Formats: sequence, structure tokens, C-alpha cells
Amino acid sequence: MADEGRMLQGRMCVACRAKRPKQDLWRVVRRSDGAIAFDPTGRLAGRGAYVCSAACLEQAQGRRGLERALRCRLTEEDYAQVAAGIASATKQDMRETEV
Ligand SMILES: [Zn+2]
Repeated sequence: MADEGRMLQGRMCVACRAKRPKQDLWRVVRRSDGAIAFDPTGRLAGRGAYVCSAACLEQAQGRRGLERALRCRLTEEDYAQVAAGIASATKQDMRETEV
């Protein structure tokens, strides 16, 4: 938690490197057991990385950006799971603005 407070100014998308407010980005988390999880709430514990869209997730997959950010290997299933999460969250507009 030590670094959570310092970076309120924004998080960086691992694909296009755009800096955006946290609530405009999708969080992907590596849980302590090594599992990759899509985190629409931004509240899961673990090492997090951010992408701004499904397109950026694809780009991150091609460039291994998430691997670098999360310091672990991601399988095709991991990417598919995150992509599905983004797709359904976008549809349902699960993202709530937390200001
Ligand atoms: Zn992006």
C-alpha cells in the first residue's frame, strides 16, 4: 500500500503509455498466488498494471507490456480473461467514477 498514495496524479497505460486518472484505466492484477485477474473495481490486492482499452490490451499482448509491468508470464487464457472482462465491463458500464 505504500505506493498507492503517492501516484494520485495518474496511472500509465502499459501499451500506449498515456497517463490517465486511475478511474479511466482498466486494472489488471497479479494476485499473490500468481493468478492474473481483471479488476474493474481497482481494489484487488496484488501488483497492478493498467490499460486504457481493449485495443491497448491487444497491443500490450503483442509487446509483452503486461508481462513487464506485472513481472510474470501471462498465458493466452489470461489475456482472453482480461479482454472478456473489459468487454463485459464496458457493456455494463461497471466503471463508477470515484472522485
Ligand atoms: Zn492505452
